[in-house]
Amino acid sequence: MNETLSPAHATALDAADPLRHLRSQFLIPQHQSADQTYFVGNSLGLQPKGAKAMVQEVMDLWSSIAVEGHFTGPTHWMGYHRLVRDSLARVVGAQPGEVVAMNTLSVNLHLMMVSFYRPTLERPAILMEAGAFPTDRHAVEAQIRFHGFNPATDLIEVQPDEPNGTISMQAIERALGEHDRRVALVLWPGVQYRSGQVFDLAAITRLARAHGANIGFDLAHSVGNVPLALHDIAPDFAVWCHYKYLNAGPGAVAGAFVHERHARDTSLPRFAGWWGHEQATRFQMAPEFVPEVGAEGWQLSNPPVLGLAPLRASLALFDEAGMPALREKSLKLTGYLETMVRARLDGVLQIITPTEPERHGCQLSLRVAGGREQGRSLFEYLQSVGVLGDWREPDVIRISPTPMYNRYRDVYRFIEEVETWAGV
Ligand SMILES: *Cc1c(COP(=O)(O)O)cnc(C)c1O
Repeated sequence: MNETLSPAHATALDAADPLRHLRSQFLIPQHQSADQTYFVGNSLGLQPKGAKAMVQEVMDLWSSIAVEGHFTGPTHWMGYHRLVRDSLARVVGAQPGEVVAMNTLSVNLHLMMVSFYRPTLERPAILMEAGAFPTDRHAVEAQIRFHGFNPATDLIEVQPDEPNGTISMQAIERALGEHDRRVALVLWPGVQYRSGQVFDLAAITRLARAHGANIGFDLAHSVGNVPLALHDIAPDFAVWCHYKYLNAGPGAVAGAFVHERHARDTSLPRFAGWWGHEQATRFQMAPEFVPEVGAEGWQLSNPPVLGLAPLRASLALFDEAGMPALREKSLKLTGYLETMVRARLDGVLQIITPTEPERHGCQLSLRVAGGREQGRSLFEYLQSVGVLGDWREPDVIRISPTPMYNRYRDVYRFIEEVETWAGV
């Protein structure tokens, strides 16, 4: 056998991995007294060992000083959202004032569209990808109806035009050209959740703006997965969740970005709440709403502290590793998966994610030869031996090695188990 395809090579790659120590910072679920082989960090990231202490600290403050916890000590709850702000800004390439942790993703998407989807009779439409994550489509459709427009004509979906169901830049460009001056907002994913395709956000932003449209991104599958430069790319807004690659736990508080150019724009409509009021005068409790400068001006409520606490532990690890080093490992680790699938599982699994480095992140979406029945059989076999991926109808298994806690040996084990199932 070619040496680079051997188990010894996987072990050597792990030994040479400068980020290998990070795995020990996570709690790995067990399968028959051994670590699960966990490739679903794109769905729910693993628990950082430090998360429990962050939650416990809140519980202890609550039990010992109760209401005083709002104002007492370095982690007082009044400013709890600020404890994650700077680290979050580093992860998404933003200025601290451009980001805020609040609500959940779908809520933030609606709040952002209230401000940045401003349809008119001449320009009523939203452009998005066909096959978007359901909540994004529901939210877009609801917003269009809310403004009295018609999704049948005003929701424009760009169909995949590439062989494996991915979307080229040309297709986006063509759609914007065809609907020139009708598009009020382009809403686009950073990483398409089903195909794993990574988009060129800078190019899409330039295109949208050249056509006079606002531009917002859903970065649910991008944050903590691929490097982002939101300030420089300068979309109007972005939203994301923190329970996928950001490892902040089920239902974790989500994130939002509003570009600096909107930081002081009080003319933007927004669904205001008291926590978005200017911090310095918030507790004067005056009836008039004066928004805080920047993304924090979109907050509604005082921060859900227990839902934010684990994010602090996770972000400490992102600060330690840095997105450039994580991306460097990710390209190697997912590149290794690609090489191994091609070399050893040809005819069993077909990679549908683009394999050019700039067009994929951690995840590879793998189509199982033989259709749904074979796909389900493989998926269930993998689960039964403690190898976790996730299933997308009708015949796709998504495998997401994450550079935070996955090893080359994990990838090797996946390959070996698929071979066992296939009898090759
Ligand atoms: C995961 C995901 C969501 C989930 O939305 P929640 O409001 O967090 O439940 C939404 N959109 C995309 C693209 C996602 O990947």
